[in-house]
Amino acid sequence: MNQTHHNFDQETKGWVDLIHPREPRSELTTQIDTKWLVIGAGFTGLSCARRLAELNPTEKIVLLEAREIGQSASGRNSGYAVAHSHFSGGYQKNQLEHYQRIDRINQTGLTSLKSIIEANQIDCDYKDAGIYHMAADKNSSGECDQFVDYLQKRKIEHVELSKDQIKLELGTSWYQKGVKVKKGALVQPAKLVFGLADSLPHNVELYENTPVMELTRGVINTIQTPKSSVKADNVIMACNYEPLANGKHKQRVVGVTLSGSITRVLNQDEVDLLGTESSWGVLSLHSGGATVRLTEDKRISIRNTAEYNNHSLLNDKQLKSRQVIHRQAFNNRFPELRHVNFEHLYSGVEGVTANKTNIFKRLSNNFYYAGCYNGSGITKGTAFGLAIADYAFGSDEKLVHDCLSIEKAKWLPPKPILDLGAWYVTKQRFKGVGKDR
Ligand SMILES: Cc1cc2nc3c(=O)[nH]c(=O)nc-3n(C[C@H](O)[C@H](O)[C@H](O)COP(=O)(O)OP(=O)(O)OC[C@H]3O[C@@H](n4cnc5c(N)ncnc54)[C@H](O)[C@@H]3O)c2cc1C
Repeated sequence: MNQTHHNFDQETKGWVDLIHPREPRSELTTQIDTKWLVIGAGFTGLSCARRLAELNPTEKIVLLEAREIGQSASGRNSGYAVAHSHFSGGYQKNQLEHYQRIDRINQTGLTSLKSIIEANQIDCDYKDAGIYHMAADKNSSGECDQFVDYLQKRKIEHVELSKDQIKLELGTSWYQKGVKVKKGALVQPAKLVFGLADSLPHNVELYENTPVMELTRGVINTIQTPKSSVKADNVIMACNYEPLANGKHKQRVVGVTLSGSITRVLNQDEVDLLGTESSWGVLSLHSGGATVRLTEDKRISIRNTAEYNNHSLLNDKQLKSRQVIHRQAFNNRFPELRHVNFEHLYSGVEGVTANKTNIFKRLSNNFYYAGCYNGSGITKGTAFGLAIADYAFGSDEKLVHDCLSIEKAKWLPPKPILDLGAWYVTKQRFKGVGKDR
């Protein structure tokens, strides 16, 4: 792995800006040896390091993060911690095992997060009240019917919602129909990832602003960072789309850039225009549709763009032009609140594979990789982190078997074909999106 020319972009916009700043841990500047090294401190790496620390209470676990905590997808996502995934296209009997496996993984992640949040009293606006899936147009309405059929067949607790019921609960007449899946939680993502990093077990050494620039694999792996080197018996890569983006491994993942806006805090009169629910989260039943939340602190967040931007965040000019799209979607849903300004504008990059699967892999004897959740990685990333730690440690957990049984990610062509293909496929995501955007 050679990251020399890679730009680890970060800027504090969005969810991180809404909370108390956190003092980052220091950069690694000395040479160290360790039995366990984890690269990347998002949900996957944090969960993996925590689990390794439990499994090896007398060993030091080193966790290296290129940026500051909260600057990756784990601090920039929309905060839906799902228990049940939405598989588009309706129920297929021969996929039952797959559905069950994914939901077991999601739920292991959710249970793990909940217990860490409770044990460490992490204040992250965690709300265990289910997730809305909504349809505003024809295609998504068809998808809604299929999703309800799926939920019924799988006996997953849910409530179907008419247009009037949605208006009553959320205060918007924009959606035609929807369904609320009762299990699933909402979080403030930046608060959560800060809390997870600051409550790591004492034997985890976290270093921030410490990118791994070079890695030589061997019986002992050698890692180069700008000011240090690490010799590690075992390495776990939890770097999402980044380590594969530049080279030596076969390319199986791309970074897709999403953007969203968050309003100022609404006043009580404005909140009264909304429905009976005090806070909520809507996922779209169209893959290009908007995710919309009323947060615990009474802001509305809306995220509805996705594009291939060469694995990078959007610059200020790009962000401003995307905000026009956020604004339109906001005004459509909340015409009485069109005077409410956006205070925050952000982008984030998610790891996506061609066949919408994830990566869970032993690349060589003492070298592992877990990641890429196609926009749904809070619970799944947490579970994959646990599982990859168990796998590397040699534990024979059911979760490890579940992660190993997931379909393998398809190979992707190198640049420039990759760029064209990724651009095209991401654009296709919006086909037929209509009013769901
Ligand atoms: C805008 C947006 C909205 C989303 N909404 C949701 C949602 O509502 N629900 C949901 O479940 N998921 C959502 N996702 C997806 C979710 O955020 C990700 O799947 C998840 O955060 C991935 O976690 P991770 O730890 O695998 O990766 P990341 O959070 O990307 O962490 C990987 C870390 O590795 C570090 N790294 C990379 N290379 C190196 C290196 N060479 N050396 C050291 N460190 C390195 C990076 O800096 C980064 O911090 C969303 C994503 C985005 C972008």
